[in-house]
Amino acid sequence: MGSVERIQNVARRVAKWHQAGHQVVVVPSAMSGETNRLLGMAREIQKNPDPRELDMLASTGEQVSVALLSMALQELGVAARSYAGWQVPIRTDSAFNKARIQSIDDARVRADLDANKVVIITGFQGVDDQNNITTLGRGGSDTSAVAVAAAMGAVECLIYTDVDGVYTTDPRVVPEARRMNVISFEEMLEMASLGSKVLQIRSVEFAGRYRMPTRVLSSLTDPTGSLAEEMASGTLITFEEDEKMETAAVSGIAFSRDEAKLTLLAVPDKPGIAHSILGPIAAANIDVDVIVQNQSVAGTTDFSFTVNRAEYNRAVEVLTKEVQPAVGAREVVTDDKVCKVSIVGIGMRSHVGIASLMFQTLSQEGINIQMISTSEIKTSVIIADKYMELAVRALHKAFGLDQPGGSL
Ligand code: ASP
Ligand code: MG
Repeated sequence: MGSVERIQNVARRVAKWHQAGHQVVVVPSAMSGETNRLLGMAREIQKNPDPRELDMLASTGEQVSVALLSMALQELGVAARSYAGWQVPIRTDSAFNKARIQSIDDARVRADLDANKVVIITGFQGVDDQNNITTLGRGGSDTSAVAVAAAMGAVECLIYTDVDGVYTTDPRVVPEARRMNVISFEEMLEMASLGSKVLQIRSVEFAGRYRMPTRVLSSLTDPTGSLAEEMASGTLITFEEDEKMETAAVSGIAFSRDEAKLTLLAVPDKPGIAHSILGPIAAANIDVDVIVQNQSVAGTTDFSFTVNRAEYNRAVEVLTKEVQPAVGAREVVTDDKVCKVSIVGIGMRSHVGIASLMFQTLSQEGINIQMISTSEIKTSVIIADKYMELAVRALHKAFGLDQPGGSL
């Protein structure tokens, strides 16, 4: 919601659902740009702002939204009531800036719904057991919405956003990318964790855990348009058993430039070596993504892993200062110009040759694969980041995702 006018449009859309006889709970996020503006002010004052105070500050954006939306609904003749997270309450742990929802009390909300009111609850925020305001991390109102929907036993959670659904890949990289009508929640989880930024990943986890069908759809359509059309638009994140699920071998291509690779050459190949290398990395609170250890030659082996690029410098320091002297590796080689490209699809469970088509496609483009990692429903490769767009485009085509009607 970028302006008063946009808030009035949201109110029209909500009123439409309400007038059709639905009980509606709305979970808005802050007005666009607002959270960035607030966090920017904090950083002008403190280099590393106090996490508790940051949450006190950042949570205000949503409080503005709920109050204005409630007023806009009342103006349309719809009874509405807004709540901050602590008033519901939405209980979280105390991890400021990245709190996790623990429970939601539905009593007050249910009473309002039963009194024919629309209830509006702040996204992104909650309250810990010391009554401190907490926030759920950037993009957290997606998670608030799915969690509230689950707590209320909603039929569906509709997430209106600035894109009209989930695409086979980012349309800015591949103009032929297509919107998917349906995606399984497991695929969505992979897409979100592999770099697609449509939904906050925790919201997808919630949708899976509570089996909450969740639809991503555009907030930019005519708010007074037909309900049936709205219900059929966007992308529905659903469950494999749903008969609407088509099983393509590959459903989407995800990618991320946030990768950096670190390699230790010629480490002694003996029990405990992975732990001696990755233990100090974990102790420094650095997340490791892909790991590859080679066959040993003459008692030594090469060991590579990737980390988030933001943690690259710290990881290099831990490796050279701590790990290398301790394990006796010949050399540390590092590269922060790599990226990860992944193909995702639940159909990979039942189709063979999917990974090999991926490797063939990359080789035809002359792209060298540096590392490979697989799970049941995805295959990821680490490649030089200058080839990222090329790889994504070639794979999108090779798996038939350019064609309406799906993939191989
Ligand atoms: N306002 C918060 C943010 O900008 C939460 C959200 O928009 O989902 O990250
Ligand atoms: Mg958002």
